[in-house]
Amino acid sequence: MKIFKTRRELQSFALAEKRAGRTIGFVPTMGYLHAGHMSLIDIAREKADTVIVSVFVNPTQFGPEEDFDRYPRDFERDMALCKEHGADAVFAPETGEMYDADATTWVEEKKLSGPLCGASRPCFFRGVTTVVAKLFNLAQPDFAVFGWKDAQQLLVIRRMVRDLDFPVTVIGAPLVRDTDGLALSSRNRYLSSDERARALTIHKSLLGVRKRIEEAGNIGALETALAEARSAVSASGGRIDYVTALDLDTLEAPTPQSEGLLVAAAVFYGTTRLIDNEVIQFKK
Ligand code: AMP
Repeated sequence: MKIFKTRRELQSFALAEKRAGRTIGFVPTMGYLHAGHMSLIDIAREKADTVIVSVFVNPTQFGPEEDFDRYPRDFERDMALCKEHGADAVFAPETGEMYDADATTWVEEKKLSGPLCGASRPCFFRGVTTVVAKLFNLAQPDFAVFGWKDAQQLLVIRRMVRDLDFPVTVIGAPLVRDTDGLALSSRNRYLSSDERARALTIHKSLLGVRKRIEEAGNIGALETALAEARSAVSASGGRIDYVTALDLDTLEAPTPQSEGLLVAAAVFYGTTRLIDNEVIQFKK
């Protein structure tokens, strides 16, 4: 497995792979890899001839008060996991390698980035779309795999790819949970065992919303169901950023015509912000 530290090395490798007629599957990550990331690498491995993983904690998507400095990192373990899952190359640049010091170009999606995480983390999606656009130009993927764990991010990336004509197929990978239901996340390591136990309420309450909506077959009971979920999360000691449901296509308020719902939560336990979601498709 090759490990590249510079943009130039990665792009030369990717272009050579393309010239040799090989398809490229790409998995961008911020490292501290877990089974959720591995499931994405496995999908890329199945789809493409050459698999490239990036491990880069992207400073431009963190706010000034956020956890960029303390974001967990374990380079050796990440490399071992990538190798074990058949990655051909890993791109792991130092922070200073990724952006030119006087860079002035941003890629911004202006609609789907607005609500949910975009509302509480105003610079977040601009950082994500900019770094992913750069990574696409460097890794030249035919396929790029993103997790439904970050549902809004997946929708924003799909929109960017469509709007800017990137020749990339974006694949959404199912959200991977721990055996107790907690969505796997690199940030779970910040949780004390007590916080972790209480954080299970997020998934349970989102499942409660799913059950109510699926039983009704429509959004009639949505507000009541969300109110119950919010009470349960608050009772568990979670500080709610949002617990809400939006139309899966537009990320606007759901209507009776909505074909799908994104029921999504962002909740702090202690200082750790966790996100989770359930996707509900209506049969029309
Ligand atoms: P991150 O390293 O958190 O930036 O995540 C890198 C990619 O892995 C993103 O596409 C995430 O959506 C995906 N991912 C992270 N956690 C999970 C999970 N529990 N299940 C599925 N995909 C995940």
